[in-house]
Amino acid sequence: MTDTIEGRCLCGAVRITVRGLSQEISACHCEMCMRWGGGIQFGVDAPAGGTEVSGPVEVYRSSAIAERAWCGECGSALWLRDIGDGAPYELVPGLFPNAGGARLVREVYADRAPEGYALAGDHRRVSAADYARENPVVEETE
Ligand SMILES: [Zn+2]
Ligand SMILES: [Zn+2]
Repeated sequence: MTDTIEGRCLCGAVRITVRGLSQEISACHCEMCMRWGGGIQFGVDAPAGGTEVSGPVEVYRSSAIAERAWCGECGSALWLRDIGDGAPYELVPGLFPNAGGARLVREVYADRAPEGYALAGDHRRVSAADYARENPVVEETE
């Protein structure tokens, strides 16, 4: 956990202030994340109660249980979040300087990664099957 940290999108129209940003980054190779983010999608959790957002946020409901948000001015990805009050934000780490100081700890859908690149390191790798087992309701529909 950190103290208050401030982040912003590429153009600066969206500002995000977080108290209690997780120091753990997750990476995802699921098909939805790849299409949305252009490749590996990184996320870092931020508590709903500690997160303040201002600016022209656009939201796309990407599945029955989750939404994805971006800046309406510059298109920067902002977050993936489960629908419902109180759900934490899974923010894009690049909004913050030095990714908020967080480190990669988990790679989800690791067995679905394209053949052409890979993440180095000894972080935990979770297969699509294991992820589905651990999360009975998952966003992935394919
Ligand atoms: Zn922007
Ligand atoms: Zn994903």
